[in-house]
Amino acid sequence: MLVNAAQMLQSAEKGHYAVAAFNTNNLEWTRSILTAAEELQSPVIVQCTAGAAKWQQGFKTVADVVRDLCDYMKITVPVAMHLDHGSYEDCFKAIEAGFTSIMYDGSHEETFELNLARTAEIVKLCHGKGLSVEAEVGGIGGVEDGVASKGELADPAQCKAIADLGVDFLACGIGNIHGLYPADWEGLSFDQLAKIKAEVGDLPLVLHGGTGIPTDQIKKAISMGISKINVNTDLQVAFSRAERAYVESGKDLEGKNYDPRKFLKPGFDAVVARAKELIIDFGSDGKGWA
Ligand SMILES: [Zn+2]
Repeated sequence: MLVNAAQMLQSAEKGHYAVAAFNTNNLEWTRSILTAAEELQSPVIVQCTAGAAKWQQGFKTVADVVRDLCDYMKITVPVAMHLDHGSYEDCFKAIEAGFTSIMYDGSHEETFELNLARTAEIVKLCHGKGLSVEAEVGGIGGVEDGVASKGELADPAQCKAIADLGVDFLACGIGNIHGLYPADWEGLSFDQLAKIKAEVGDLPLVLHGGTGIPTDQIKKAISMGISKINVNTDLQVAFSRAERAYVESGKDLEGKNYDPRKFLKPGFDAVVARAKELIIDFGSDGKGWA
């Protein structure tokens, strides 16, 4: 059932687990995410950037596919349809298209004051419509949708200022980056996480760049107040690895295995399997309506 993400993340924060937020790329991707969540009776967030929405022919197409699949597949767990790293303009488009949760990423705005002012405006608009809001303080390292940032540590005082606007959950840099982590990565900054958590109280925090962070660091971050973990690259790697193995085995040349429903199945089965592993790592299995 499609809901906003506020309640599921408050429950996660209280229960010391995290809800996975998986980025979707197409119908089968969404189907795989929903399959994994339903099988494990876990809440889940399906999210999409503006770039991935453009590929899928618009925010409305993405939202309609998620909504219709939840209906067709008789999904019983809570599912949020979330805009990932929305610009100010993207937020209005995603709201109009039927997303149930919005991330306004004002971390790239010219000033922190502009981030604050626009976050306040988006919170007011979204809460009026029953949608949840994620905001961001401090850039997340790596590149997402062409936006590069240095992965600074978020300033706890700025986190507090944004939290006071009534956002439902907050993305804050703690040494995490998007994409694959470099070999010389220094790991998450738990000191920074502790300082931020001390400022924002029980506000659920979001860890972007969930691909490739060692599981012990993930678990420690969850125990310290991370309640939503974004995963994109990890599932893409699982998909491409399975497809590569399928082609290299020559199975695609047998019978009618050129049929896309057969050709792409190993990749999507791999996405389901990997999503399930992550849901279990994050501890949200069995927490459907917790
Ligand atoms: Zn991100």
